[in-house]
Amino acid sequence: MKALKFIAFAQFCLGLSALALQPGYAAVDNDPSPQFNSGDDVSMAPGHPNHFTAFATESPEMLARMPAIDPETGLHVSEIKPGLFYVTEGVYQSAFLVTEQGVIIFDAPPSFAHKLPDVIAEHAPGIIIRYLVYSHGHSDHIGGASVFGDVEGLQIVAHAATVQSMERAARPGILVPTITYDAPYEFSLGGETVELTPASFHAEDMDTIVYLPRQRFVMAVDTITPGEAAFMNFGATSDVGAYMTFFDTILAYEFDHILSGHVSVLGAREDVIMARDYAHDVWRTAGAGMATFLDRFNTTLAALEYKNANLAYRATIEAVRRDCAREIIDRWTGKLSVVDVWADSHCQTVILYNIMH
Ligand SMILES: [Zn+2]
Repeated sequence: MKALKFIAFAQFCLGLSALALQPGYAAVDNDPSPQFNSGDDVSMAPGHPNHFTAFATESPEMLARMPAIDPETGLHVSEIKPGLFYVTEGVYQSAFLVTEQGVIIFDAPPSFAHKLPDVIAEHAPGIIIRYLVYSHGHSDHIGGASVFGDVEGLQIVAHAATVQSMERAARPGILVPTITYDAPYEFSLGGETVELTPASFHAEDMDTIVYLPRQRFVMAVDTITPGEAAFMNFGATSDVGAYMTFFDTILAYEFDHILSGHVSVLGAREDVIMARDYAHDVWRTAGAGMATFLDRFNTTLAALEYKNANLAYRATIEAVRRDCAREIIDRWTGKLSVVDVWADSHCQTVILYNIMH
């Protein structure tokens, strides 16, 4: 163990000595292996060590799960329970529930919301749209709401925090909520029940967990990506500590399907369990790596002759992140798709959390 630590330390110092030889600090890191995409490392230039071909493609299991997108409409629409449909263009997701007394829509991503009126008319001919529910206030999931702006009597349902956020800054395309709540809220239509529970796992203000008990359907947007490692920074969460507890909150619901807002695939219970185990593994691995942080930082700062603490900090974060990402990629490749694309981002998210908490 000591020998391994020494080798890691020596490699780290070698990286720093390379840095000393490079004018303008061009190469903080002389590790020739791919950098696991830190946001600016993926190259499209042939021959570059971080050429995109160094990253794994989507796994065959993931590709097999992806539903076909209709080339005519650019959408996939499927009825997952009687009257309950989910819609995706391959990147974003929305859903709608058809009842005898009207339709309830859940989210309206601007990427395809303009197509939703036709889709709903096709699957619910002659049935009026009564409700539009927002999962959270982010434009990329509800910024297409204005296509329903002329639906008479439409109720827009959202957490009160979404209204407050809209008052602070204009959010083009988003209709102002007509029904708000700041505690668990429930409504019924045509004998079907919608349960809305405020939660914190992603947005900077509030999220809502949508639950349809009869359909055993739960919606928690910007959380997991079923079959894949979560998107950058764990679904770009604003609070990774809260994100880590989200999984058990969701697993307390009885559900068959989870709509998490992204990719074309609809999730199942096992996807939440897998995502939880992955996230918790990153949490533990990056947390353990933090034990080396201060020593590494001090060594780096000394190598830089105490002249550039910012660069020493960056180099230290990158070194801890790289060790963490390597472990995570080793353990999770084959279980989740695109782990090598996002592992370093997840490690960095936890590292920054640890620095601040
Ligand atoms: Zn969001």
